[in-house]
Amino acid sequence: MHVVENKQIIQVAVPRPLHSVYDYLLDTDMAIPKVGTRVEVPFGNTHAIGICINASVRQPHRHLKTVIRLLDQEPLIPENLMALAHWMTDYYHHPIGEVLSTIIPTAARKGGNAVIDAPDYWRVAAAFDNPRAKAQTALYQALTVMPAKAGKTLVDAGHSRATLRKLEALGAIERCQPEPVSTIKPGPEPNPEQTVAIDTVLANTAQYKAFLLEGITGSGKTEVYLRIIHEVLLKGNQALVLVPEIALTPQTVTRFKERFERVGVLHSALTDHDRLQTWLKAMKGEVDVLVGTRSAVFTPFQSLGVVIVDEEHDSSYKQQDGLRYSARDIAIKRAHTLNIPIVLGSATPSLESLHNVDRNRYVRLRLTQRAGGASLPTYHVIDLRGQPHEDGLSVPLQHVIRRHIKQGGQTLVFLNRRGYAPTLLCAACGWQAQCHRCDARLTLHQTPPQLTCHHCGIVLETPATCDSCQHSSLIPVGLGTQRTEAGLHRLFSDIPIYRIDRDTTRSNRALETQFDRINSGGQCIMVGTQMLAKGHHFPDVTLVVILNADAGFLSPDFRAPERTAQLIVQVAGRAGRAHRPGEVWIQSYQPDNPTLRHLIETGYIGFAEHELSLRQHAGMPPYQAMAMLRADAHDPSAAKAFLDACKAQFHGVEVMGPVAAPLARIANRSRYQLMLLAPTRAKLHNALSNFSPPKTARNLRWSIDIDPYDSL
Ligand code: ADP
Ligand code: ZN
Ligand code: ZN
Repeated sequence: MHVVENKQIIQVAVPRPLHSVYDYLLDTDMAIPKVGTRVEVPFGNTHAIGICINASVRQPHRHLKTVIRLLDQEPLIPENLMALAHWMTDYYHHPIGEVLSTIIPTAARKGGNAVIDAPDYWRVAAAFDNPRAKAQTALYQALTVMPAKAGKTLVDAGHSRATLRKLEALGAIERCQPEPVSTIKPGPEPNPEQTVAIDTVLANTAQYKAFLLEGITGSGKTEVYLRIIHEVLLKGNQALVLVPEIALTPQTVTRFKERFERVGVLHSALTDHDRLQTWLKAMKGEVDVLVGTRSAVFTPFQSLGVVIVDEEHDSSYKQQDGLRYSARDIAIKRAHTLNIPIVLGSATPSLESLHNVDRNRYVRLRLTQRAGGASLPTYHVIDLRGQPHEDGLSVPLQHVIRRHIKQGGQTLVFLNRRGYAPTLLCAACGWQAQCHRCDARLTLHQTPPQLTCHHCGIVLETPATCDSCQHSSLIPVGLGTQRTEAGLHRLFSDIPIYRIDRDTTRSNRALETQFDRINSGGQCIMVGTQMLAKGHHFPDVTLVVILNADAGFLSPDFRAPERTAQLIVQVAGRAGRAHRPGEVWIQSYQPDNPTLRHLIETGYIGFAEHELSLRQHAGMPPYQAMAMLRADAHDPSAAKAFLDACKAQFHGVEVMGPVAAPLARIANRSRYQLMLLAPTRAKLHNALSNFSPPKTARNLRWSIDIDPYDSL
């Protein structure tokens, strides 16, 4: 429409699926925005906040609309992050607009001001004398006594924000930077293995190199990170530390804050405003160490010197919806681009990372001893076949627990299923309580009493009689944490029992309070899900019980053995971390299961080598590159037809499916999947690069998952 000769045209990525890049005109009075700044543009019937990705378009599309306003002067997305976004667009086959909107903090996406808040610290600036203004005098006096104070401290002491503002307006007081409070503690002297690990990484700080720090639980990996970071900071650089979702506890943060002054934290419980503030401070170099969960991998830094990924095998690094990225893999990519070292740490490294060690892509560093001299737990298996048990607790197991109680140790019982029982069964006719929206059984809960679906979240009243034959002989079958808790209460009535799962600990705070109580010592038994497995330190636990090791090994997912082994070793690692040796007791109906035997007899690495050989045989990752296309719709045939049409487009790769997902229906949507395997990543990407999604039926949702974490 317009003739667009003299006007500047820019290219903007908007957060929309598929075609997400558009050209816009600039008004003549607008400055030319820098690449990586936010711009507000008209979009359809509404407007959108996008990112300028090209400031000098030469061959514009026609029908151009004009930019509404520019939000930033300086890029919110610096050049190296922009390059990463383009790489992700190619690698994950995801539109650039959505990639960019995943990268930037929510507050920035919504148009929030990208300016660092003025510091809320105050000091005296000029003389002030006005005896009649009592409140102002009191506040002024407070600031003359101690040079600088946080606004919050002043408010807590009874002064008001209004008084602060008045004194500021009068010029009597002013904002200032907080004085560094040096409470920095020295760490323990590294042991010889730690020293080797630290020195090896530090000998390589001037270039990209990936290290796999394979250290058993409690071997002092964190101490290694802290020492490396210390040296990196001395050179004036910054450090990024990624931790799993559940491990970012006050315990973890405290360890970093005790050792470094300017520590920033990023996790999902922060306000949008605070997240953006931390992002900006890291970009400006006002944060030395950033500790954060998955999305912290996108934080820009002024001068990043090292990346640490703790518990690199953890599933929470993989985003499971939208842009399905792996924060661990992106961290590797970032370190590579920035030409800095990266350390991946774990007691149970992912098979991918071990494979990368085999291919000489990563350098392996080992910590085989527990720091501080604690010893590793011993493993024992209880054969459940033919054993009577009470709510999952066999008689031999009861004896073991009793022995540990007598010796003053705490017990941790692990069961990866919450609720009371996974099935409610009619003893008269065999009917089972099913979710009518999913192809799944309903889980019986007792506190509060209800039937819930763990897939779609539906909550129903517990029926008194069978839906099918009206008998009142309904019995709970199988085990959940609530049932085990009840059983433990009956068997050990004088011992405090703590249940720890998503139902008892809705908030991080609740979890911390529970842990504090447990760690204040004294007898207790904990029963819980994988929340117990990660990153926590229970010095008084001497016994770890795995109630049912079989469930995980029986899952059809190709990663299930790996995940289960990791979980068992991680839970086991909670035992005997302090002075007393620990024991791990595993109950199983398949005590001869080769996976379990490998794990117990040869340890995690022995298991991993065996499992890798199975993957190689089966042509599964990491020996082939995998992608999964998923589609779901109310109408199963629509989902299948969509994937059939996709399949027709793929050449040069192995294509399996479409098949119904193992969990074939969730919330009334039928789920199908198509698996792509290729001997090389290049071949996989080649096949996907020409892919254009077929026309979708109404209501159909689909996604591409590169390097899927599970196939369920
Ligand atoms: P990981 O991260 O491998 O699980 P941590 O770094 O948490 O292990 O160390 C476990 C415990 O051992 C911590 O309490 C830590 O302070 C302590 N520790 C680490 N290194 C040493 C050391 N060299 N000497 C003494 N204690 C240490
Ligand atoms: Zn019945
Ligand atoms: Zn359901």
